[in-house]
Amino acid sequence: MGSVGRFAPSPTGELHRGSLIAALGSWLDAKSSPDGQWLLRIEDLDVARVRADSEASILATLTAFGFEWPQPPWRQSSRLERYQHALTQLQRRIPLFHCQCSRRQLAAEGETCCVGECRRRRCDPRDSALRADLSVLDPASIQDRSLGEVRFDPMVHRDVIVRRRDGVLAYQLAVVIDDADQGVTDVVRGADLLDSTPWQLGLLKALKLPVPRYLHLPLVVEADGQKLAKTRHSVRLEGQNAVQTLRDALHQLRQPSPPIGISEPRELLRAAAAAWQPERFKGEREIRLPLGS
Ligand code: GLU
Repeated sequence: MGSVGRFAPSPTGELHRGSLIAALGSWLDAKSSPDGQWLLRIEDLDVARVRADSEASILATLTAFGFEWPQPPWRQSSRLERYQHALTQLQRRIPLFHCQCSRRQLAAEGETCCVGECRRRRCDPRDSALRADLSVLDPASIQDRSLGEVRFDPMVHRDVIVRRRDGVLAYQLAVVIDDADQGVTDVVRGADLLDSTPWQLGLLKALKLPVPRYLHLPLVVEADGQKLAKTRHSVRLEGQNAVQTLRDALHQLRQPSPPIGISEPRELLRAAAAAWQPERFKGEREIRLPLGS
C-alpha cells in the first residue's frame, strides 16, 4: 500500500504561508509515492479558539491552491465518543492522575508537566486536568526522516494532559487516535510540533497503536526569527496568486523549481510531487526568509 499522509489544521484562523508549507510538504510527500493518499482532518476540539468561518476558509484556500482529498475531512468534534473510549483503554494500561496545577504555576516553573504532588494527592476530579503518567514507559526517541535520531528527555515529557480541566479532550490524545484510525503512515508537519511528538509516542505505545514515520519540516520563519503566523505573512492566501505562492513555498523548502509555463496550481503540485526531495532540507529545523521578502 502507498503512503498515507495528512494535513490537520486547527480552524482558528486563515491558511497562511506557514501553514501552507505544512500542507504542501505533507501533500508532496504522500503524492510522491505510488498510490499515496493525502487526508484532511479538522482539529476543532478547542472550542474556545475555533473561529466559525475558519474551516470553510481553509478548505476554500486549499482548493484554490490545487489540493484535493479523497474523502470528506474528519472533524475531531464529531469523534468525542471514540476518544472517550480510548481514554478508558488508556486507564487500563498506564496510570492516570488528576492534576490541579494552574497555568500560572506551570508558566512560573517553565513546565508543561505536573509540578506539584498531584500524583499522590488525589485532586478533586471536577476541578482538575487528567494526566497520563508516561514515566512508566521507556524513554522516547524517534528516527525522524529529516532530523535523524531525536531523543526526548523523559524528565521533560514525564506526563501529558489527556483531558483538560475544562473537560475538553486533549489534542495529544485525539491526534494519535485519529492518525491510527485514518491509517496514517507518515506524519509530515512543522518542526514546531516536535515537542508534542514524545507525548504522542508515549500514548501510541501505551495504547499499542502502530507508530507512524515522522518527518518534521523546517519551520519557515521571518528573517528576524519570528513565526510567520504572528506577522504580516499570516494574512489569508489569495487564490489568484496560487501558482507563484506555491513556487515561493517550494523554493523555501529547497525544492527544485517546477518547469516554467505551468499556470495551474494542480499541475504545479503534480510536477513538484514527482520531483520531491526531502533530503534537500535534511537536518534543518528552521529556514529564515531573506530580509525584505
Ligand atoms: N492541529 C495542529 C496545528 O494546527 C497540527 C497537528 C499535527 O499536524 O499533528 O498546529
